[in-house]
Amino acid sequence: MTTFADLGLDPKVLSAVTDAGYETPTPIQAQAIPHALAGRDVLGIAQTGTGKTASFVLPMVTMLSRGRARARMPRSLVLAPTRELAAQVAENFDIYAKNTKLTKALLIGGVSFKEQDALIDKGVDVLIATPGRLLDHFERGKLLLTGVQIMVVDEADRMLDMGFIPDIERIFQLTPFTRQTLFFSATMAPEIERITNTFLSNPERVEVARAATTGENIEQGVVMFKPSRKDRQASEKRDLLRALIEREGAACKNAIIFCNRKTEVDIVAKALKKYGYDAAPIHGDLDQSQRTRTLTAFRDGELRFLCASDVAARGLDVPAVSHIFNYDVPSHAEDYVHRIGRTGRAGLKGRALMICVPSDEKNLADIERLVQREIPRVDNPLAAGRNAPADEVQDAAPETETAEPAAQPVTQDPASAGSADETPQDKPAPRARRDSRKRTAEKKAPVKSASSSGEQDGQAGQEGKPAARDKDGRIIGMGDHVPAFLTRPFKAPAD
Ligand code: AMP
Repeated sequence: MTTFADLGLDPKVLSAVTDAGYETPTPIQAQAIPHALAGRDVLGIAQTGTGKTASFVLPMVTMLSRGRARARMPRSLVLAPTRELAAQVAENFDIYAKNTKLTKALLIGGVSFKEQDALIDKGVDVLIATPGRLLDHFERGKLLLTGVQIMVVDEADRMLDMGFIPDIERIFQLTPFTRQTLFFSATMAPEIERITNTFLSNPERVEVARAATTGENIEQGVVMFKPSRKDRQASEKRDLLRALIEREGAACKNAIIFCNRKTEVDIVAKALKKYGYDAAPIHGDLDQSQRTRTLTAFRDGELRFLCASDVAARGLDVPAVSHIFNYDVPSHAEDYVHRIGRTGRAGLKGRALMICVPSDEKNLADIERLVQREIPRVDNPLAAGRNAPADEVQDAAPETETAEPAAQPVTQDPASAGSADETPQDKPAPRARRDSRKRTAEKKAPVKSASSSGEQDGQAGQEGKPAARDKDGRIIGMGDHVPAFLTRPFKAPAD
C-alpha cells in the first residue's frame, strides 16, 4: 500500500500531514501527487470528499518551498468557484504549510480590497481566489499573474454551471504559458474537455470513483409526493419534511437540507425554526460573515439543520453529516451526486432522503440514469392522514413574509449563470414579489373565514343565517354546505 512517505513530499509537509492525523493517502492523492511533483499537468476527475484538496495543496507546498515570493506577483494561484470553497482551500493550506514560511492571500468577495491589496503588495506564495474577485484585483492594476508557476482550477464543473468559464479562460491567458496546471472537475462536460484540451499540456489524467455510484454507505430513498392541491404544495412539502425528520429520530444527528432556490432555502429554514427545529439558511445572498457564522456553528455541532442552496454548499467540508434531505429534486442530475456526497464520508453511514413531486419526475429519471440505479421509493410518513389543517394555516405565515416560491420563473436554474461568486439569480423581480404577496393575501382570505365559519368557499352572505331545518331539527337540502355558485344571484330568463 502506498504511504505518504512514498510520494516524494517535503519532510515538513509530511510532518504536517501526520499532525493532521492522516495515515494513508486517499486514491486521488496517491495517484495525483507523484505526477504533480514531477512537474506534470494533472487532470483530476474527482469530487469533494475524496481528499482532492490535499492532492494539489501538498505538492504545491513541497514545490514552492524553494524560492521566494515577489511583490504583487504570486507564485501560484488556486481558483475556486465559491467563497466557501476558496476559504476551505485556504484552511487546508494553513494546515499543510504550517511548518514552512510560505504565505497566502485569500481573494474573495465580501472582504475589503484594502486588506487583500496589502497582502498582495507584500508578495504571496499562494493566491487563493474566486475568478470574479481575482479579475477585479487584476483590473485595478494591483496584481500581476506573470509570476504564476502553478495554477490550480478546482471544481471546474461548478465553474461551468456558474458561468465562470470565460473568466477562467481569461485568467489562463494572463498566466505564463510555461506554468504547471492542476485541474479538477467532478465530471467532464464537453465544455470542460475543450478547456483542458486548450490549456493543459499533455496532462496525466487521474480519476477516482464517484460517491454516488460506489457509495454503499449512503442509504438513499425518495418519497413520491403528490400534494392535495397544487397551491398547497409548498406547505405540504414542509409538513412532509418535518415528518421525515421525525421518522429518522435520534439517528438524524445533523442534516443538510437542500433546496433548489435561495428563496426556498430561507422559507424552509424559517418554517423549521418556527416549529422548534434548530435550523439556519446558507446561500449566496447572505452576507459573508453570516455565512461563515452559520457554517462554523454547523461544523461545530451547534447547529443541527443547515438549509442550503447547491452553490453555497458546494465543496463544503462538513465531516460526519448523518442525513441529507433533498427538499427539491435537483434540476441538474450531477447536483444530486454532490448533495448526497456530503454524507457517508470517511466510511461513516449516511442517509439521503428526497421529496419528489410530480413535476420533478423527469429530473428524478435523469438522476437515476446518471447514478445507474433506481433510488428506492420510501413511504410517505404522512400518507395515513395529512396534518391538521391548523398546521397549514400557521405554516402559511412565512409565505406572507417572503416571496411565494410559485411566483418564481419555473424555468430558472438555481445553479447556473452567475457572475462574481454567486448571483442572486433566483431572486424574484420586485414586482413579482409584490404580486405574489398580493396573491398570497388573496388566497389566504378564504382560509381565515374557513377557520372561523367552517366554510371553504367563504359565503359571506350565508354567515350567521342558521341552515333551514325540518321539524325534527334535520338540515334540509345541503344546509350550510351550499356551494357558492348556487347562491349567486342570477336573472331568470324571460318567458
Ligand atoms: P476534500 O475532498 O479535499 O474536501 O477532503 C475531504 C476530507 O478528507 C477533509 O476533511 C480532509 O481533511 C480529509 N482528508 C484528506 N486527505 C485525507 C487522508 N489521506 N486521510 C484522511 N482524511 C483525509
